[in-house]
Amino acid sequence: MVHNEHVDVVVVGSGFGGSVAAYRMASAGLSVVVLERGRPYPPGSFPRSPADMGGAFWDPEEGLHGIYDVWSFSGCDSVVSSGLGGGSLIYANVLLRKDEHWFVHDEPLADGESESWPVTRADLDPDYDAVEEMLGATPYPFEHPSYAHTPKTIAMRDAATELGLDWQLPPLAISFASRPGGEPGLALPIVEPAYGNVHGVARRTCRLCGECDMGCNDGAKNSLDHTYLSAAKHHGADLRTLHEVWNVRQRAGGGYAVDYVRHDGTAGVRTIECDRLVLAAGTFGTTYLLMRSRSGLPGLSGALGTRFSGNGDLLAFLLRAKDRSRTRELDASLGPVITSAIRLPDSLDGRTGGSAERGAYIEDGGHPAFVDWLAESADLRTNVKRVSRFVINKLWATFTGDKNLSAELADLFADADLSANSLPLLGMGRDVPNGRLRLRGGKLDVEWDKDASSEYFDRLDTTMRRIADVLGAEYSGLPAWLGKRFITVHPLGGAAMGRHPGEGVCDEYGEVFDHPGLYIADGAGMPGPVGPNPSLTIAALADRMSTRLLETKPARKRRPARPKAGELKAVEPTPVELATSLSFDEEMAGFVVLGATDPASAKRSEGERLSFRLTIRMDDVDAFLEHPEHLARAEGWVEAECCGGRRPVERGWFNLFVPDGSSGRTMRYQLWFTDGDGHPRTLSGWKDVQDGPVIRLWHDTTTLYTRLLHGHIPPDGDTEKAVAAGVLHINPIGLAATLTSLRPDGPRKAAALTRFGRFFVGQLWDVYGPG
Ligand SMILES: Cc1cc2nc3c(=O)[nH]c(=O)nc-3n(C[C@H](O)[C@H](O)[C@H](O)COP(=O)(O)OP(=O)(O)OC[C@H]3O[C@@H](n4cnc5c(N)ncnc54)[C@H](O)[C@@H]3O)c2cc1C
Ligand code: SF4
Repeated sequence: MVHNEHVDVVVVGSGFGGSVAAYRMASAGLSVVVLERGRPYPPGSFPRSPADMGGAFWDPEEGLHGIYDVWSFSGCDSVVSSGLGGGSLIYANVLLRKDEHWFVHDEPLADGESESWPVTRADLDPDYDAVEEMLGATPYPFEHPSYAHTPKTIAMRDAATELGLDWQLPPLAISFASRPGGEPGLALPIVEPAYGNVHGVARRTCRLCGECDMGCNDGAKNSLDHTYLSAAKHHGADLRTLHEVWNVRQRAGGGYAVDYVRHDGTAGVRTIECDRLVLAAGTFGTTYLLMRSRSGLPGLSGALGTRFSGNGDLLAFLLRAKDRSRTRELDASLGPVITSAIRLPDSLDGRTGGSAERGAYIEDGGHPAFVDWLAESADLRTNVKRVSRFVINKLWATFTGDKNLSAELADLFADADLSANSLPLLGMGRDVPNGRLRLRGGKLDVEWDKDASSEYFDRLDTTMRRIADVLGAEYSGLPAWLGKRFITVHPLGGAAMGRHPGEGVCDEYGEVFDHPGLYIADGAGMPGPVGPNPSLTIAALADRMSTRLLETKPARKRRPARPKAGELKAVEPTPVELATSLSFDEEMAGFVVLGATDPASAKRSEGERLSFRLTIRMDDVDAFLEHPEHLARAEGWVEAECCGGRRPVERGWFNLFVPDGSSGRTMRYQLWFTDGDGHPRTLSGWKDVQDGPVIRLWHDTTTLYTRLLHGHIPPDGDTEKAVAAGVLHINPIGLAATLTSLRPDGPRKAAALTRFGRFFVGQLWDVYGPG
């Protein structure tokens, strides 16, 4: 029997939540494995040329393992990052604390529900302090002579003064000096902390190139790979890149099993087990993973998917700014992407005269200097168009299929003077978290009613317009030319914290209700908008979660705490509620025809023999029966000459009696294996249990329509493009063997067997019984 690897803690994802958790656990002496789907990016490796940008997107099915992961939903679009360090690789370095009064309690939402933060600012302040120190948070050194002439910072300050708004220099996670507290200077060598650096590449202080959102090739950004992850590795954490988690499940004996694939050419699905599991795959990654893993995590809260918010993101542009008929220099490419922020008060602050206004921040944006360079060279002007079109087409047309939109965007960029007198403005704040993440056809989707936030967006838009007026600039607000489509780089919620399972998926420490040892440590756990840029709050909550986790014992049955040599002693097992499992064997044989795609029309006379033997395992019978997909694991082998003989099933899914949309049911089999030539293959099969006379029962339940597919195709993937198709059967002796192989395990065996039997017969009765 193969034993899976086992560690104290597995962390999924290496963004703000995952990095903090990995460091805290590793430095406390626990064995930690971080599974990160993306690549490491040492300074100097971030893509810049149009050719490199083409491969800079995350789409493994297309062989792309790049840094930008673009999601296009029916309700909004979003960009997140994939790589060691998560969003910190491409973020704009702003570390603002959530305002004290914005930790709302029972604030009504339009849908009759309410937004509640089960933590307060005072709870989080010690964690905010710790994260700021580790990330070297420091404001832009605007007072220093080398930085005092940054045009966009001056423009923002002047506009705020004229409009009577609060202006500030927010803390940035950037090294402006060789060591914390040192004299700022451009491109100075950075002195690494005692814990070293995962990349082992020299870093230099910020040279104000405005490329932060494309990754810092100087290493001036104190991103998570240079800080928390380097420290975690120093303390023994095992950081595994190009490892993508597909599924997680609770183990009967306590702890969790995590299935992952590797994107480094290694085939097959592997499993690692752990006492505690920290999910930090980002808002979309974690929510999607939980939704896909539902059958292995019985009793997850029905709040899964709720409380989505875009953190009130609104992007706008100031164009062709003028100062008394002369061009007003804004120079968006000088300085880090964000240097300063204007804060719009909230009625909760108690200073807005009682009107119900939701607070916001407006920050100066930036774009890289090479865009200026191209724009300023008249003969290269077309290149701006080309580069802009290329990137934007990639971002929008490829992923959204919206060709008109990309053309519109490209024209705007190409026509405006991108260099001296334009400036992006980035707005964010307290929108209404009434969005919902759902699975549609196996894919994640966001439903989001923006109307509930329209007053908030109107106020933000109006204030940005006033800033444009004051600076003598034309104004282009994004929603106007996007036909009301919204883009967010701050997606939050989906597996939010709450006071009880009716309100959230996890508690105030991120521990999932009814799943001891399973934690959510990322943006998915936010019960609403943070307001300012959210990373610092995500990291602080992960820090608080880590303190709590380290104070509690893991709920496990079999593995005692790690004994030190010479200190072996009995450890009291923590009582846990055990699930009852059930398994049975099934053997089927038949034929497939190479080149056929439709099993029903494949001819046996043209086919070759194919068979399989499987053990179908339901780790928790109750969860299996309750979940509408009735999903179990399939283990065993597939055998056929065309596949190189008998091949082990590396990963398998089995669904029993899933409603087919009419009055029938489907039984589905999806089996991954690797053929004799090393090619990944999938056997995809289904039994159609159709409404009709009982005489059809035998045919329907023993006939498996089968396709062989290229690659490892997930159960919700495209199964139409087959390399072979055919039909398998089970004979009466085989069926008898299957029925007698039913094996329950765990407590309440007899009851589990009875429940399963009732379900099985009940489903057949529904289909074939007198209607
Ligand atoms: C252009 C841009 C600018 C931004 N600027 C700022 C800013 O200035 N300040 C700020 O506070 N925020 C900023 N943000 C937002 C910030 O990046 C996010 O809020 C933050 O990164 C979220 O942290 P997280 O831990 O939730 O997830 P992430 O940082 O997104 O990390 C999730 C990680 O999990 C990995 N992952 C996902 N699925 C799997 C899987 N199945 N298996 C293994 N690994 C997986 C991903 O590759 C990723 O590395 C910006 C974002 C963008 C895109
Ligand atoms: S402005 Fe340039 S050097 Fe400075 S942090 Fe951003 S990318 Fe790095």
